[in-house]
Amino acid sequence: MDRIAKFLAYEGRVSLICANTTELVEEIRNIHDLTPTTTAVLGRFSTISGMMGFTEIKESDDFLSIQLNGKGPVGTLISAVKREAETTKIKVSIDNPHIELPLKSNGKIDVGGAVGTNGFLNILNKNKTTDSNYTGLVPLVSGEIAEDFTEYFAKSKQKPTVIALGVLVNKNGVKSAGGYMIQLMPDATEEDIVNIEKALEKAPSISQMIENNKSLEEIARTVTGDENVLILAQELSLKYECDCTKERFERGLISIGKEELNKLIKEDGMADVVCHFCNKKYHFSKEDLENLLKEIK
Ligand SMILES: [Zn+2]
Repeated sequence: MDRIAKFLAYEGRVSLICANTTELVEEIRNIHDLTPTTTAVLGRFSTISGMMGFTEIKESDDFLSIQLNGKGPVGTLISAVKREAETTKIKVSIDNPHIELPLKSNGKIDVGGAVGTNGFLNILNKNKTTDSNYTGLVPLVSGEIAEDFTEYFAKSKQKPTVIALGVLVNKNGVKSAGGYMIQLMPDATEEDIVNIEKALEKAPSISQMIENNKSLEEIARTVTGDENVLILAQELSLKYECDCTKERFERGLISIGKEELNKLIKEDGMADVVCHFCNKKYHFSKEDLENLLKEIK
């Protein structure tokens, strides 16, 4: 079962979030018909987007949107995250879901090669309560995703953060997926940092720990080296949900302009529009399109 939990370690000087996203990533693999390579790419990206939903979104009207484009073969990754009570709702898209690359020489999936390194990570965080729009833009470091987000927290947010993301997948499906995010509070000591570094050296990979059925509490203890981690919140859930509607695509068709819409009516006599987040298809008949044309001044 998918779970996300928040913890405090070292008497509150360190905070962390641990997530098991195995079911979510399997659902995303099915929705987008992903290969093992793109499952690893989109699985890591969805896991960090979901975890950030818990750290960056405070109110139910808030909104987080992340775009990652490294100019590699998979194209642009987009996530949109919203929150309702204890449930975080996420939807994701990828330009080229069917890319499959050979494994790297160490036997690992070539996420960096698929994402590319010549691009940017762009984060938009809308906070309705404070009426603010926060935008963070950082160049990619490795395209491996965890390192790129670590850089974002260091550069844009001045928050020292350790991020690990992992997806174990074969052609039959996702065996395990998850991640953790450790953040140092301003009062964290040198000793805390040394202890965490020692713990991380010994810790197995996050996908391995989840595959071995370690609980999130056990993972939190393992990666911090603190036996007395305190659970702040658990049983938080992460759910895939697309909120697309026909009206939204109507607005999209109107926005292409009178000339293009006329051309579409004459040449195709209808339009089938597919949502990039959930692959739902919306059909617009000739009559629908003619009605939209009337709305353009
Ligand atoms: Zn949709």
